[in-house]
Amino acid sequence: MIEQKTAEEVPLESTSPFELRVDLSKNVSESVVKKALETGDIGFLHSFTTGSAVDGPGVRLVAWTAGCQFRCLYCHNPDTWNMMNGMAIPLERAVLALNKYRHGLKVMNGGFTLSGGEPLMQDRFAVRLFAAVKEMGIHTALDTNGFLGERLSNEELEKIDVVLLDIKCWDPERHRHLVGKDIGPTLDFARRLAQRRKPIWLRYVLVPGLTDDENDIGKLAAFAADLGNVERVDVLPFHQMGRYKWEKLGLNYTLNDVHPPSRELVERVCGQFHAVGLTAY
Ligand code: SF4
Repeated sequence: MIEQKTAEEVPLESTSPFELRVDLSKNVSESVVKKALETGDIGFLHSFTTGSAVDGPGVRLVAWTAGCQFRCLYCHNPDTWNMMNGMAIPLERAVLALNKYRHGLKVMNGGFTLSGGEPLMQDRFAVRLFAAVKEMGIHTALDTNGFLGERLSNEELEKIDVVLLDIKCWDPERHRHLVGKDIGPTLDFARRLAQRRKPIWLRYVLVPGLTDDENDIGKLAAFAADLGNVERVDVLPFHQMGRYKWEKLGLNYTLNDVHPPSRELVERVCGQFHAVGLTAY
């Protein structure tokens, strides 16, 4: 049984995106959701967290959106798959909340990152929020799986300083198995960002037995190096911190027996990116 709170009882800030949040917008009508998606007047957010040092340059304030069209087998936040699990937050409230951190983020050379879920499921809200944050003079980052990148116009892309692009794996068949969608749109978005010289920080979740194939990683590394705009690669070791959410949500988690990658494996994968001239951690 999932312990439930109403949207009013839940603070916008959470200590961690690993906090389970469900059904916070279950009373929002379909017409309100439709209009919100069309206009961006309202966003559906899992939470805000502060002080992240891994979601873009410097110290980041991160807003986690609800809604994702991928179903990554290793997802550590499956409560963000459903948009209705997020809180319905008017754009103005989100902007006011962000404004509180404006000074601190500038002092710490940090910025604002929109993550998820998949932020581009709510592309109008994302675009308006980025525009408001840029107005405040704050650095902006979009953390995305890239599948819906075509929803952003070139002008809208200019409000985003860096794209944290999650490429889940290289092999198309494996990608479909791993996330339930094709890899093509993500790679198209990467190429478009390269044409526009928009910096990419590539994120790669390393899961033993699923995304550690040496040959595939070699091809991904070559692709990333050819783009010419990948500033760094973050190799993110798989962990089991999200397993309890799958259990609580009654989802079929298939990675119970998978262990985090060894240090040797992480070093091998980072080395594959280094070998093509990329900075990887
Ligand atoms: S893209 Fe991110 S939020 Fe969506 S299923 Fe994959 S890991 Fe989870």
